[in-house]
Amino acid sequence: GGGAGSGGGSRFDLEKETELRFEVEAGERVQLELLSGLAEVFGSELNRNKKYTFGPGSKIAVFTWQGCSLSLSGKTEVAYVSKDTPMLLYLNTHAALEQMRRQAERENERGPRVMVVGPTDVGKSTVSRLLLNYAVRLGRRPTLVELDVGQSSVSVPGTMSALYIERPADVEEGFSVQAPLVFHFGSTTPGTNIKLYNKLTSCLAEVFSQRCEVNRKASVGGCIINTCGWVKGSGYQALVHCASAFQVDVVLVLDQERLYNELKRDLPHFVRVVLLPKSGGVVERSKDCRRETRDDKIREYFYGFRSTSFYPHAFDVRFSDVRIYKIGAPSIPDSCLPLGMSQDDTQLKLVPVSPGRDLTHHVLSVSCVEDDAEAGESRSRGILESPVCGFIVVTAVDTQAQPRQKYRPTPERPEAPNTDLLDTEPVGPAAC
Ligand code: ATP
Repeated sequence: GGGAGSGGGSRFDLEKETELRFEVEAGERVQLELLSGLAEVFGSELNRNKKYTFGPGSKIAVFTWQGCSLSLSGKTEVAYVSKDTPMLLYLNTHAALEQMRRQAERENERGPRVMVVGPTDVGKSTVSRLLLNYAVRLGRRPTLVELDVGQSSVSVPGTMSALYIERPADVEEGFSVQAPLVFHFGSTTPGTNIKLYNKLTSCLAEVFSQRCEVNRKASVGGCIINTCGWVKGSGYQALVHCASAFQVDVVLVLDQERLYNELKRDLPHFVRVVLLPKSGGVVERSKDCRRETRDDKIREYFYGFRSTSFYPHAFDVRFSDVRIYKIGAPSIPDSCLPLGMSQDDTQLKLVPVSPGRDLTHHVLSVSCVEDDAEAGESRSRGILESPVCGFIVVTAVDTQAQPRQKYRPTPERPEAPNTDLLDTEPVGPAAC
């Protein structure tokens, strides 16, 4: 590779089964163009003579099965061609999954449910995207289940979601997120409330199974479950829980033999556990880099991304018009728990939150469940186990507008001319 190409970019000539890897410098943009041959980015095909732009911090691999020429312009931190990639193994994995889909079609069964696991920075999200792209390019309709609450590819951080894939990911923007099913978890690590994490995993599994019952294509397409990089202790238990909730058929373990052996030991014998190498191209991301990606994700939700711009607006909400809850009560010593109650119950409890200044800059999920204070326990379960319909950012809490009243989420509250205001304006970055 190397050398000047058309339009002042560097030209790279790739042999078959090699990839060009590059990282975009902070504050820079890089343009990529396919001059000849065929190439793909994480399973999405490139169009010839079209300029693709990648923003600061992007880490990209352009792979070619047949050989190609590429032009790259702009400031890259690194740009090199590698001949050493595990792509053939990934393609074989895809071929095996496609076999299972064909069999499912013939025998009126369900297609493969696949869980992708491994420590952080081994390319789990990338492999998931690749397998989904290859499946949808063959006309399949797989579902992406995103359980990585730290680095969700579907919605804002702190959520768990499912996305029905109907077309390949856009090279620059990823999968289209027109109608994802999103659940509120509320933290970027599962350990904050592992009980809730497992509960929501079960919810997603249930919704997916329901969809499969009424949608044959979804059933045959199966799902690819992207998981968190936390693979020890409760994190490991969460993987085992997920495997059973979704009744997964295949587990792809990236780059960790120990995890592979543990799962082989602990999962039922009919689950195929496969060890796959990670790509040498996967870049380790620092804490800062992860935080930035999270902030970007929130900004993207409110302001859109390249082809779609949103214009979020601010509006005031009376304290009396909203009910705000937090999931999970602080744990109390076992000896203080009411008889017959366990710590687990407190983790799934819906706790009313009184609006105060400390709510400022928080992202809140908006639930579409009708809140019925009378319903008590069943109400809290309803909100917890239902998908959210959107997010807001609290930009200011005005407790001065009227002498501060204690916020009580009861419908019987007299309709006082209460002007306590929550000023909600969707602006990032914000805490989640
Ligand atoms: P985490 O568990 O932290 O979410 P992960 O295991 O899912 O991480 P990815 O997000 O798939 O890892 O990959 C990490 C980064 O490496 C991404 O920015 C991705 O674009 C990049 N990357 C993946 N494969 C390659 C490759 N072959 N060449 C260059 N960059 C790559």
